[in-house]
Amino acid sequence: MTKYIVVSGGVISGIGKGVIASSTGTLLKSLGLRVTAIKIDPYLNIDAGLMSPLDHGEVFVLNDGGEVDLDLGNYERFLDVQLSRINNITTGKIYSEVIEKERRGDYLGKTVQVVPHITDAIQNWVERVAAMPVDESGEAPDVCIIELGGTVGDIESAPFVEAMRQFQFRVGHENFCLIHVSLVPVVGSVGEQKTKPTQMSVRDLRGAGLTPDLIACRSSKPLDDSVASKISMFCHVGPEQVLAVQDVSSVYHVPILMRQHGVIDFFRRRLGLDALNIPEERRSAGEALWNRWTSLAGSYEHLRETVTIALVGKYTNLHDSYISVYKSLEHASLACGRKSEIKWIEATDLEQEALKTDPIKFHESWQSLCSADGVLVPGGFGARGIEGMVMAAKWARENKVPYLGICLGMQIAVIEFARNVCGMTDAHSAEMEPETKTPVVVYMPEISKTHLGGTMRLGLRATVFQDNTENSRVRKLYGGAPSVDERHRHRYEVNPEHVSKFEEKGLRFVGKDETGQRMEIVEMENHPYFVGCQYHPEYLTRPLKPAPLFHGLILAATGQLESTL
Ligand code: GLN
Repeated sequence: MTKYIVVSGGVISGIGKGVIASSTGTLLKSLGLRVTAIKIDPYLNIDAGLMSPLDHGEVFVLNDGGEVDLDLGNYERFLDVQLSRINNITTGKIYSEVIEKERRGDYLGKTVQVVPHITDAIQNWVERVAAMPVDESGEAPDVCIIELGGTVGDIESAPFVEAMRQFQFRVGHENFCLIHVSLVPVVGSVGEQKTKPTQMSVRDLRGAGLTPDLIACRSSKPLDDSVASKISMFCHVGPEQVLAVQDVSSVYHVPILMRQHGVIDFFRRRLGLDALNIPEERRSAGEALWNRWTSLAGSYEHLRETVTIALVGKYTNLHDSYISVYKSLEHASLACGRKSEIKWIEATDLEQEALKTDPIKFHESWQSLCSADGVLVPGGFGARGIEGMVMAAKWARENKVPYLGICLGMQIAVIEFARNVCGMTDAHSAEMEPETKTPVVVYMPEISKTHLGGTMRLGLRATVFQDNTENSRVRKLYGGAPSVDERHRHRYEVNPEHVSKFEEKGLRFVGKDETGQRMEIVEMENHPYFVGCQYHPEYLTRPLKPAPLFHGLILAATGQLESTL
């Protein structure tokens, strides 16, 4: 029987439910258990694909092409698993499933209602996902962590809360428990910790028929003993059920903090985990994982030297828009013994127009770009900021500064190269300028022009290294493999008509898709590291296994690339 751990939130959203959910998973993995995760997003969108990164943060892409909430990225990175689109449940998905069944006549004339039809659909979905293997073992997971987005008491999440209330009886008390994540604000000049918001949110939770097994109290400082006792007393839980999760130096410390508090033993007893009889080899693999994890957290603490990367994008006002990118930089830097420091540059601030509207910003942005050890232009959509990105690519190319262009960033590198090296002065992308006379980036033929949602070239696809690429740095970074599988999300691509011209001038297309028609990786000759990829390597980074192209960028930016290859 699968064990379920629901993670709900109270008081405010955005207090780190995702990190607590992933950390719980990490702790259970350290026992040798197989763990999967579900994120419930109570919005009506079918998926995150059409949500603005500036509103909602990054759109994370899975192997199967699912465009999902960024929390699934946290789960994949923490738990080293591969999830699928159905691991992200939204109100939109549940309702469209139920409405489709209603139209088919499956409800046999019944009135279709939130309870029981929607709540049943949610529970069935959860059970279906929980049984799906998430790693190479091909075995069903032992534990499923369900993060309930939003806060308990919201109108939107009510059907999901009710579904979970029913679910605890469907699967039985010994297979279901709940962590409620709450906020303990620190107020006043003496920094008093206030418990009332937590009390109120636990009251809401109990009112909905759910009982917290652990109350995870997020606070800027460790919980005072008296505050913890008060929460225990007034929220009607034992003292061991109040878990203090204060701000720590990195997310990698959260599982360690939870373990110190005795969370593992708590779950062992509460969910009867010992009865699962985990084989010895899985247990020792779990222990080894834990050792690697603690040394990772420890080494993070002791990094002194930094590497600076200029991230030139268009959603830089919300850093979560690029969460997988900065995680990738962090993982790659860690592997190079550095702390990554990101200079966030809004591409429009590099453009001539900014010199007139905000000259200080303009000069600061150029100063950040020019002083960085490496330049990264991440993915993006639409025309705003394109010229700023082209200038950043030009700077990196001409000054031999390491450059990594991802998806749009690769298209930018090609536009810049066409304009300034190949003399195609009006070269452009058909995305930004549909009527351009020199389209070096064009619309992919098979993509729908009328439907935006879920119609891009999405998910895991193969990139094949071309003949005579044995000496390619990129290929070496991938360990010399003949082909690599990475995740995609794009509508436009490099126009194959111009490729031979670019190659003559030194921009090599070392990786293409299986048909040889679609350009996947560019690499510049006579440059320490100037690389672009049409896919998104950031979606597959792991703390202990950095994405190769990011690793290459940081190695080059710290002068270690040649010696490492
Ligand atoms: N807008 C570009 C395209 O659709 C790049 C997409 C991206 O960067 N993810 O091809």
